[in-house]
Amino acid sequence: MSGKSFFIDLAKCTACRGCQVACKQWKKKPVEPTKNTGSHQNPPDLSWMTLKLVRFHETEIDGRFNWLFFPDQCRHCLDAPCKMVGDSEVPEAIIQDPDTGAVIFTEKTKDLNIDSVRPACPYDIPRVNPETKVMYKCDMCNDRVQAGLLPACVKTCPTGAMNFGDREQMLELAKKRLEEAKKKFPQAVLADPDDVRVIFLCQFPPKNYYEYVTAEATPSRTLTRKAMLAKLTRPFARILT
Ligand code: SF4
Ligand code: SF4
Repeated sequence: MSGKSFFIDLAKCTACRGCQVACKQWKKKPVEPTKNTGSHQNPPDLSWMTLKLVRFHETEIDGRFNWLFFPDQCRHCLDAPCKMVGDSEVPEAIIQDPDTGAVIFTEKTKDLNIDSVRPACPYDIPRVNPETKVMYKCDMCNDRVQAGLLPACVKTCPTGAMNFGDREQMLELAKKRLEEAKKKFPQAVLADPDDVRVIFLCQFPPKNYYEYVTAEATPSRTLTRKAMLAKLTRPFARILT
């Protein structure tokens, strides 16, 4: 499968939040009210106004303290469960760009049910504007990419953590970096590289960064998704079993 992909090397992320701000700027999204919760996490979660969010997690691994950063966003799944659910309710509300593979929420998502679409996503990404009912998430900066530009977040990243290009190239880069990372971090893995277009390299087991780094979820959410996906009998059911 061709099209485009991101490769995000978490070992290179310094949590500068340049990607988060660049996304807001390009998408003309407003700032949102937030408060100090004793953590650098700000805002606390993704929303219809924040489509890219750097998540922070303090954790002990093998007796050593680690402060881990995870720049979260839609993974642009190759066979997107959100689109499968969307198509069954309102065709064309969620579309997939044939050139890049970007999964895009349109204005028609206002006629979809967020309680169907959000649980279908194995990465807990879709969010809704409570007033207009339109749903939002990253669209791969498809307008920029179609014009030959990089997504705003990738263009801004100062450390080389975020990379973007043809899928084959990104997969090749991801595998090369994984090989290098494994020399120092034997538990290093790529998160769901065969299923998504946003491929994260994790030095440590993915759950240490955030619970939805890979398509495995918490037991309660897994049950919900399993029930839904069983009905669809489409990809991702195999991941969740
Ligand atoms: S990550 Fe979630 S919102 Fe994004 S394409 Fe996959 S299912 Fe849809
Ligand atoms: S811009 Fe790059 S280094 Fe900064 S938070 Fe985003 S991914 Fe990490």
